[in-house]
Amino acid sequence: MSIDKKSNNLNPQKRGEDVSLDLALRPKNFDEYVGQDKVKRNLKILIEAAKKRNEPIEHILFHGPAGLGKTTLAHLVAKEMNSQIKITSGPAISKVGDLVAIILRLEEGDILFIDEIHRLSKLVEEILYPAMESRAIDFVSGKGPSAQSYHLPLKPFTLVAATTRTSLLSSPLRSRFSGGSFRLDFYTIEDIEKIVCRNAKILCVETKPEAIKIIASRSRFTPRIANRLLKRARDYAEVKGQGIITPELAEEALNLLEIDHLGLESVDRRILDTIIKKFNGGPVGAGTLAAAMMEEVETIEEVYEPYLMQLGFLDRTPRGRCATSRAYEHLGLTPPSSSASDQNQQKLI
Ligand code: ADP
Repeated sequence: MSIDKKSNNLNPQKRGEDVSLDLALRPKNFDEYVGQDKVKRNLKILIEAAKKRNEPIEHILFHGPAGLGKTTLAHLVAKEMNSQIKITSGPAISKVGDLVAIILRLEEGDILFIDEIHRLSKLVEEILYPAMESRAIDFVSGKGPSAQSYHLPLKPFTLVAATTRTSLLSSPLRSRFSGGSFRLDFYTIEDIEKIVCRNAKILCVETKPEAIKIIASRSRFTPRIANRLLKRARDYAEVKGQGIITPELAEEALNLLEIDHLGLESVDRRILDTIIKKFNGGPVGAGTLAAAMMEEVETIEEVYEPYLMQLGFLDRTPRGRCATSRAYEHLGLTPPSSSASDQNQQKLI
């Protein structure tokens, strides 16, 4: 499966209706943006200071697992700054010329949002250094004796970037986010319940409080997943019930999607099962695991592993991935007296 964090199984192929619903559910201001209080406080200061100086806000990096609200924050920053936002992503910029064209079209005060910035190639990334630091771009056009080098000044702009893999960013790039680098954490269950409750109102679907709890508890502490589960529960309630999401209908809808009480989907369980049964609980390298699962390494690392680690089901050790005894228990298996993960812990001690 190729990685597209916005359309994989955790976020299935979007229907037209889903896309417009997603826009309706996206918070329109910082008050509607639930949680992540530390990040919001910092951003508000940055925004206010920039406005006072009548300057564009400084370059910002958001990092953290998919679906936690990085893109939404970029939109909110643009809105608060009354700036236009131009959106692109690392995989969409394959050539230096693509990025140069985008940057040269930016107007004063614009925000350029680059999602998945860790996927920019080194050559493309290097264009960003002077653009971010000294508002200029240097590039060479043509080859051989006819090659021409250019140094073009830029209008003041802000780069807002998002990544699920901050460790893959080079340090020269990371250090140029002068406004700061903000980590988004998984949400608390209370915050996810607030999001589900608010969004049920926007979708005009009556949802019983117990049903909100069920949907929230299986949402992997992630707003995007909470939205998706709410929409699927709404579909189910419309087809199998009277359009009201009751706890029973919510439970049935999520069971039909094979989402268990912790929010694990079949691929998550297959990852744990493969590590335990094929590799004796690990350690197993990410590449070997991905090959055994017929998935891409990046999909496993970026989409599935963060939540499995958050639950304490998986350890990333220097020698590879290990299933913890909690993972065995979740699958109804008996953990070995000391699982590979525990042994690794002991070695480290
Ligand atoms: P990311 O860019 O980190 O993958 P997005 O910003 O695209 O995540 O968020 C996905 C969806 O989740 C948004 O469209 C929005 O509806 C919802 N969402 C994200 N963060 C929040 C939040 N803090 N409060 C309410 N809804 C949120």
